[in-house]
Amino acid sequence: MSYEAYKDNSLGFTTRQLHAGYNPAEHYRSKAVPIYQTAAFELGDFDRCTRLFEYSEEGHSYVRFSNPTNDVLEKRIASLEGGSAALSLSSGMAAISNTFLNIARAGDEIVAVSTLYGGSTTLLNKIIPEYGIQGRFVENENDIESYKKVINEKTKAIYIESLGNPGMNIVDIEAVANLAHENGIPLIIDNTFATPYLLRAFDYGADIICYSATKYLSGHGTIIVGLVVEKGGFNWFNGKFPQFEAFYEEYKNSIGEAELNRSIFTKRLRIRYLTDLGSHLSPTSAFYLLQGMETLSLRMERHTQNAKKVAEFLSTHPQVLAVNYPGLSNSPYYELAKKYFPKGPGAILSIRLKGGLNAAKTVLEKVRVFDYMVNVGDAKSLIVHSATSTHFGQTAEEREKAGVYEDTLRLSIGIEDAEDLIADLKQALDSVE
Ligand SMILES: *Cc1c(COP(=O)(O)O)cnc(C)c1O
Repeated sequence: MSYEAYKDNSLGFTTRQLHAGYNPAEHYRSKAVPIYQTAAFELGDFDRCTRLFEYSEEGHSYVRFSNPTNDVLEKRIASLEGGSAALSLSSGMAAISNTFLNIARAGDEIVAVSTLYGGSTTLLNKIIPEYGIQGRFVENENDIESYKKVINEKTKAIYIESLGNPGMNIVDIEAVANLAHENGIPLIIDNTFATPYLLRAFDYGADIICYSATKYLSGHGTIIVGLVVEKGGFNWFNGKFPQFEAFYEEYKNSIGEAELNRSIFTKRLRIRYLTDLGSHLSPTSAFYLLQGMETLSLRMERHTQNAKKVAEFLSTHPQVLAVNYPGLSNSPYYELAKKYFPKGPGAILSIRLKGGLNAAKTVLEKVRVFDYMVNVGDAKSLIVHSATSTHFGQTAEEREKAGVYEDTLRLSIGIEDAEDLIADLKQALDSVE
């Protein structure tokens, strides 16, 4: 028996979500990926210890830096994205915050769309400014001129999301990537709502992908995990990123130039930030995530099929004022959805209700299959009132920009039988006075 599938990136997506990055021959032929539940590894001899600590030899010493279970996870997500390297962290927010710190220093700026996940907005407008890094928000994320207005010589990245929350808006990723590259800066995308199965972000010019793997990648609502994936090939030596130039000089003799050229963003993220800010991911969580990812493509197919059916039903219900789902032909994002999401634009949608806040409360009270929960991307269907939860603390104006009104409910459509989901929403909506 030879285990070759683990390193064959020509295999299909579903095959790789089961095999990529894991060679059983290196782990007593255990077919499940073992959980290396240890804080540290025995170093061997004196010379090996030195090599590990100067990074001239790959291997594990202290688990805040790396672990074999996490290593499989990192190789698997890199394979699924077609990236050169990846890093696992303790949460989606750790992935995003560490990425920002890796790319920008005091005096730098990051340009972002204003329809971001709440935690990412807070990072950009409240937290990193305290360290001298400014977040700059574009006025209209669908107008490329808006980006140009806020990009200047201090800008070190453009940051977008593949599907906005909860308006499910879509940015023209390719156009924004081209603009970033014209300015010598990378495009970073939070692809949490789409997953590598629905959106090939690197193919459209993204350079770095961040995930809250807490959501669809894990799929079962059991863990909090973040991932960062690097495409490889971005020119970090164009004069805008002195921190990468210094890092290259410091490590070119030990890590090696080929490896640094392939994945310097990830290497610096691990050596500087994962290690010394300490957002380590537990190997047990890495194991749960690997299990979840084994069924990613199957779940996403069912999620998107169900979402389309539910969105179509909701569009016909007399209590519903509007449905935001880019898979509907009347969505302003329908054309972008067809281009970027040929397998379907995800399974999260939002609705506005004619009966306002009271109607929203009634629906939340009456649903029986949907759970009233603040997360998304679980195999089970979830519903939430955004204004009083995920977007709490924002001004009405900020909320409305993100498509959040008093009468807005966000739905994360699960993989249950679509008929049950539709019947559940129907009885809840019918009971609105
Ligand atoms: C949940 C989420 C995050 C934050 O991830 P955690 O794993 O909760 O830290 C970031 N971005 C998006 C789009 C999310 O949905």
